[in-house]
Amino acid sequence: MTGINTKCVQAGYTPKNGEPRVIPIVQSTTFKYDTSEDMGKLFDLEASGYFYTRLQNPTNDYVAAKICALEGGTAAMLTSSGQAASFYSIFNIASCGDHVICSTNVYGGTYNLFAVTVKRMGIDFTFINPDCTDEELNAAFKPNTKAVFGETLANPSLVVFDIERFAKAAHDHGVPLIIDNTFATPINCRPFEFGADIVVHSTTKYMDGHATSVGGCIVDSGKFDWTKYADKFPGLTTPDESYHGITYTEKFGLGGAYITKATAQLMRDLGSIPSPHNAFLLNIGLESLHVRVKRHCENALTVAKFLEKHPNVSWVNYPGLESNKYYKLAQKYLPNGSSGVVSFGVKGGRKNAEAFMKKLKLAAIVTHVADIRTCCLHPASSTHRQMTEEELNDAGVPSDLVRFSVGLEDVEDIISDLEQALN
Ligand SMILES: *Cc1c(COP(=O)(O)O)cnc(C)c1O
Repeated sequence: MTGINTKCVQAGYTPKNGEPRVIPIVQSTTFKYDTSEDMGKLFDLEASGYFYTRLQNPTNDYVAAKICALEGGTAAMLTSSGQAASFYSIFNIASCGDHVICSTNVYGGTYNLFAVTVKRMGIDFTFINPDCTDEELNAAFKPNTKAVFGETLANPSLVVFDIERFAKAAHDHGVPLIIDNTFATPINCRPFEFGADIVVHSTTKYMDGHATSVGGCIVDSGKFDWTKYADKFPGLTTPDESYHGITYTEKFGLGGAYITKATAQLMRDLGSIPSPHNAFLLNIGLESLHVRVKRHCENALTVAKFLEKHPNVSWVNYPGLESNKYYKLAQKYLPNGSSGVVSFGVKGGRKNAEAFMKKLKLAAIVTHVADIRTCCLHPASSTHRQMTEEELNDAGVPSDLVRFSVGLEDVEDIISDLEQALN
């Protein structure tokens, strides 16, 4: 199974003789054993198997295995949300007193999680502009830096992250690069091919695609050698007293240590496991991911080109447009298309943007993005309404900005809706 399309449809679950063709929903919290000894081996991580769904569940594992195959990783786990995936990806290797470097152009929820909540746990963050110089980047590293974090295609700024450059800097300083690949999806970009070490997803977006299930995923490339920097990552390279003195890198190798630790410690103690039913729904989305993403990108490029020519639009941001600041980087990292999300400015500012939103008929006003249904958001009057004009400009969401998530309807219908609302 080598092609990405085949993996979307079939990877992760291969039924044996007489077993269900479709991934079964194992909606059970608990698994039965004949003897206490049998179960004891599972608790000691001596044998693999299921005992309690907070730690592992077959439905969740099949779906995680599919995403692992799509990204080209060695191990993966599902989480109940993208936020949980981002948090675990950091907290699995950094603790109180440590430091992490993060791109300034990340999802707002990620920024809050790191800058406010994780910071309160004693982990310090340096936020760095993804377009900074190599000098500025290298100067951001400290002796206690444990990871670098960025987003392939940032939500909502659509800034394309130079994965190769940041991976090199991270590796020069002996730490992994973690990439949030939510908007690109493994159909458009596989960050491991450019040197990233860990990938996280909010599967809530294109992966699910139908806006049914909040979820997340963490995938390990298995390429980062924790043992080479054993002093930096004692959680992976020294015995875990909370798990009978197991040393994760010894017992599970470089391919399995990171995800096993995240499951055995973080999921055990913090418990952000998805419901097996949600994992089942996520898989139905993944089965058509390759077809959907391609069409989202085609429709979005057509919409972006239409907007660029419209007299009532002051600017358009879509990395697939040749006029875009990130066009070159997008051609390198996202040659098949960036995503279905286009942002643009309505001429006349806030007042006209609000009027435009009121006129939309086909595009629904929702906070969600990356859905099969075209949806639209005016941040200045909704998600960011408490901010002043100046704060909005500083945050890169000026009051004329509309975020338009192009769906899978006929592009002619999407454009006529835009046209009537803009006119
Ligand atoms: C939505 C989103 C998240 C958070 O995911 P949830 O599933 O909503 O918790 C993280 N990163 C990106 C890029 C997102 O778009």
